[in-house]
Amino acid sequence: MTTSHYIAGRWVEGQGSDCISVNDPALGQPFAELMAASVAQVDQAVTAARGALPAWKNTSASERATYLRGFAEQLGQRREALITLQMRNNGKPRHEAEIDLDDAIATFSYYAELAEQLPSKNRDVPLVAPGFTARTRLEPVGVVGLIVPWNFPLVTSAWKLAPALAAGCTVVLKPSEVTPLIEQAYGQIADALGLPAGVLNIVNGKAETGAALSNHNGLDKLSFTGSNSVGSQVMRSASAQCRPVTLELGGKSAIVVFDDCDVDQAVEWIVAGITWNAGQMCSATSRLLVQDGIADALLTRLQAALENLRVGNPLTEEVDMGPLTSQAQWLKVASYFATAREEGLQCLAGGKALDRDGWFVSPTLYADVPKDSRLWTEEIFGPVLCARRFATEEQAIAEANDSRFGLVATVCSADLERAERVADALEVGHVWINSVQAVFVETSWGGTKGSGIGRELGPWGLSAYQSVKHVTRCLG
Ligand code: NAD
Repeated sequence: MTTSHYIAGRWVEGQGSDCISVNDPALGQPFAELMAASVAQVDQAVTAARGALPAWKNTSASERATYLRGFAEQLGQRREALITLQMRNNGKPRHEAEIDLDDAIATFSYYAELAEQLPSKNRDVPLVAPGFTARTRLEPVGVVGLIVPWNFPLVTSAWKLAPALAAGCTVVLKPSEVTPLIEQAYGQIADALGLPAGVLNIVNGKAETGAALSNHNGLDKLSFTGSNSVGSQVMRSASAQCRPVTLELGGKSAIVVFDDCDVDQAVEWIVAGITWNAGQMCSATSRLLVQDGIADALLTRLQAALENLRVGNPLTEEVDMGPLTSQAQWLKVASYFATAREEGLQCLAGGKALDRDGWFVSPTLYADVPKDSRLWTEEIFGPVLCARRFATEEQAIAEANDSRFGLVATVCSADLERAERVADALEVGHVWINSVQAVFVETSWGGTKGSGIGRELGPWGLSAYQSVKHVTRCLG
């Protein structure tokens, strides 16, 4: 049993009614347990954040930057432990766990730099009207609730925590019940750095704990990453209190491959876009659109590449892909395999759970999937790729955009002018040209349509935690 809630600068045991099992998905067995935070403890965390706000928002931006640099350094000092925990609890292959840690470190370092530039952003506004001066102040939004999922626990939390703290907000973070140990590192680091009590609070729990946080009337904003169904509940609670909300939701993203591509290179990008993190990425490029001229050759090589992937336990084997992170996710993906069979889809690879302990499935490819198939339209969140063919650029753009989601897309073409033109026409928040899933802290993250509201990362990620104020003075 783990003591796992960090409230007002102290570690406390959960007083909620849910017992949370922390599982090793490669074995399908628990390795730790903790009690969820109670509704009263969520309230204590919000009260602590409220109490810490006046002092924290008045610290200098360079002091906050020093803390953020401390977070980056301390993450580095916990490197091996955090990599191993992600491998064990998420089932991530080592190199992916390493990338996540490096991404979290880069995020804290980047927002330390932005925090240092903050004072220069409080600037005079030139007015045409005589007799007045005006200046802009960027103030912290206040107390923010942060609710995150399990697929990139270190990273998703860093993308919210670092800019929120940089802006001068105080926070209550609720990690996912599937991975409740990983973000405890942020509480331990806050302790080690002497971050003032209440600036960062962490409460663990399931839906009840999340709902207690998102319904709490002591928040000034809520930032949520997760599924569309929970996102819409979170938005309802924000709307009941007329307060801002950032939503980073699901995706069903396209990878568009034109027939001037090098087929082997395209196969590499396609495989990475659907099998990294066992396809449990909001940004998985799970809809392949391939141009007629290379479709047959590409699908044949793709089938071989997926079948040759080494799937196994990242802690004991050299693997390209680990298990799905939770039993619920494994059951969900298996239900899509059943739907594919009912729909009579043409399965070129995988399409089944692996016959071994743990929550493993085969990397899967369905070809010539009809546009109205549930597998073409719904987010599966597993290593399940659906392919369709196209003839013209216009057709590719129309099919890629024909989705209720709009998170990301990848365009593969040797004709860079065409690739840029297609990128401009895609209704998404981020497009990769001839690359895959490359996310840099300086560029934004977030989607259009059903993929959410708002942006993280870059200066936009900081603005999400700032409120703009103008002070206008009459000179006469
Ligand atoms: P989820 O919506 O089930 O859970 C997300 C978080 O919300 C968890 O911490 C959960 O405990 C909490 N929660 C559950 N019920 C709640 C409620 N009623 N009120 C408040 N909080 C509640 O999502 P998940 O299964 O953890 O994650 C997978 C989803 O997240 C996928 O849809 C994926 O696309 C999405 N995602 C999006 C992004 C992005 O940047 N757009 C990134 C990662 C994941």
